[in-house]
Amino acid sequence: MPRRQAIFLDRDGTLMEEVNYCNDPATVQAIPGAGEALSLLREQGWLTVIVTNQSGLAKGLITPAQYEAVNAELLRQLGGGIDAIYFCADHPDQPTERRKPQPGMLHEAALDLEIDLSSSWMIGDKPIDVECGRNAGCRTMLVRTGYGSAQSNTDADFVMKDVTEALQRILTLGE
Ligand SMILES: [Mg+2]
Repeated sequence: MPRRQAIFLDRDGTLMEEVNYCNDPATVQAIPGAGEALSLLREQGWLTVIVTNQSGLAKGLITPAQYEAVNAELLRQLGGGIDAIYFCADHPDQPTERRKPQPGMLHEAALDLEIDLSSSWMIGDKPIDVECGRNAGCRTMLVRTGYGSAQSNTDADFVMKDVTEALQRILTLGE
């Protein structure tokens, strides 16, 4: 059985508008058009996987229930369209190999879901997302939403206006 291709997506500032330490589902705003693009990609066989650093959990700024409620609201607004979610609650002062830019979450997903990392994509709004994708051997896109609007220098393979445009580019490339 051939390994599958995945699109790894950062959550805050990428799939939804940036909210610092988001702990309230009422503040969740998915990027317009992202849900439709994700559905089209899944119909073509892509796996869609969220990989998110959530140090607010370690800092006590977000409770596990709040984290889950925010995810649920985002998925509701996206109309589903996500195969799996991996999160890292590490405190930045004591990061493990799972906290982006380390590639641990991508390696974990690759094992769980039989993903071919070298033909997969990582999309995010921060240099650590691009670095994480590179560390895992994925292709990378930086989006200009969230913190991405402030990034002038990036070694991402593509820089896109937002996640919807990024996903549409992958649909067009077809690989
Ligand atoms: Mg982000």
